[in-house]
Amino acid sequence: MKKSRRRPLGIWAQILVGFGIFIVVVWALLWLFQIVLLEPFYRTVKTAEVKSTAEAVEHRLEDESLDEEVRQLCYNTGINILVTDELGRTYSGWRASQKESLLNNMTRLSLAELFNDVNLDGGQRLAVYRSPFVNQDGSQNQVILYVRISRTPSGLNRMVLLESEITPVDSIRETLLVQVGVLTVVMALLGTGLALLIARKISRPIAAINEGAKELARGDYAIRFGEHGAREVRELAQTLNYAAGELSKVEGLRRDLLANVSHDLRTPLTMIKGYGEVMRDLPGENTPENVQIIIDEAERLTSLVNDLLDLSKLESGVVPLEKASFNLTESIRLILHRYDKLADYSFPFAYEEDVWVNADELKISQVVYNLVNNAITYSGADKTITLRQTLREGKVRVSVTDTGEGIPPDKLQDIWERYYKVDKEHKRAQMGSGLGLSIVKNILDMHGGAYGVESQLGQGSTFWFELPLSPSPGEDSLTPVK
Ligand code: ADP
Repeated sequence: MKKSRRRPLGIWAQILVGFGIFIVVVWALLWLFQIVLLEPFYRTVKTAEVKSTAEAVEHRLEDESLDEEVRQLCYNTGINILVTDELGRTYSGWRASQKESLLNNMTRLSLAELFNDVNLDGGQRLAVYRSPFVNQDGSQNQVILYVRISRTPSGLNRMVLLESEITPVDSIRETLLVQVGVLTVVMALLGTGLALLIARKISRPIAAINEGAKELARGDYAIRFGEHGAREVRELAQTLNYAAGELSKVEGLRRDLLANVSHDLRTPLTMIKGYGEVMRDLPGENTPENVQIIIDEAERLTSLVNDLLDLSKLESGVVPLEKASFNLTESIRLILHRYDKLADYSFPFAYEEDVWVNADELKISQVVYNLVNNAITYSGADKTITLRQTLREGKVRVSVTDTGEGIPPDKLQDIWERYYKVDKEHKRAQMGSGLGLSIVKNILDMHGGAYGVESQLGQGSTFWFELPLSPSPGEDSLTPVK
């Protein structure tokens, strides 16, 4: 794997960068709204206020107390208000301050002219202009002038003039600038502190897990990961704990397997070597019986190696199931036929009819062989192994019963494990590889078939398995037309 040259950023640095970007964005937004758009905002708000005041005046034009109400509005809003008719005659006029205003500097004539102009223009006019009146410091304010012509319900023509000063925002802007600056510094400090805190909380348990994982990689399967910190970190620790548990199980199995296999291989090899040497050194020992022992032991080795290969292939899943419909009953009959030469044993097979299943014939035969072989190995004095085929709810059950020593109830679960032998001190003639039932279990699991064992100590055992029935080729699934 190619290593990237640049070291990736740690959690702390990443969070810090995130916070940095966040602060810059917030700062930019503050700058935009508070500083750049301050004046346009302020103007828009001011204009809206002037217009709504104009409307308020308009609604009271016919009121007796018009003048008083205009005074109130002027006082509340700080807007200078003047109400005239089309001839420039004043009905009410109020100024918010003593400052010079356009309103009280206009002559009757110019007011009448203004009425005319605005009336022709469509009834309203808004103008922003620089005040002609100079402040004490020599500056001139910006002023909004709003004129509105209206006709009262009783047919009177009126003109409402409003004048409002736009306070310069420069001084406010300066204050805000300082505020934004201070805020930015505070945010930066707070952000850094928070980033540090969060990063420590997240990265500490991860660093601990990392250390543990290194131990695990070195082969310490007993390691346990502390499940604390954020949810994801906890889940990671749980997963690693699970993995460590599984690894240690596999390691245990591997050790057992090695010990078992080497023991099982060594015993026949010792026998073969021993007999071979005896036959070489002592001419009188060169008997057919001794040669037979060598052949038997070689056969035992072959079957052990075959079992091992079968099981490892089954467990690794490299052998696919070659399913086809076949006559299970016929298949069992053929298998039993092979045992004919075992003259002292009898193999009664009880069944009512031939049944068909959709399965891998070779593998199912192996299941039957293994069960019958075990029954022979562990059979009782009467040397009878009974096979039964029964049908129930669309399934066929095949059982193999012996009258042997039986299996202790607490061992019934374990016998399906690889290399498990109930009686480890068994006489050598009866010693198997301990793989037979594992192979049975694997094959039936692959088929999704049920299997099990019932056993009574001293009375015998019954091993069974079930497969779903499939229609026999003779059975026509089509209904004939009559
Ligand atoms: P083995 O090659 O040792 O027979 P198996 O996997 O076939 O290995 O069986 C595992 C163990 O289950 C056997 O060692 C034996 O103790 C027990 N067992 C299997 N079949 C029978 C049986 N029919 N009667 C009694 N015990 C049995």
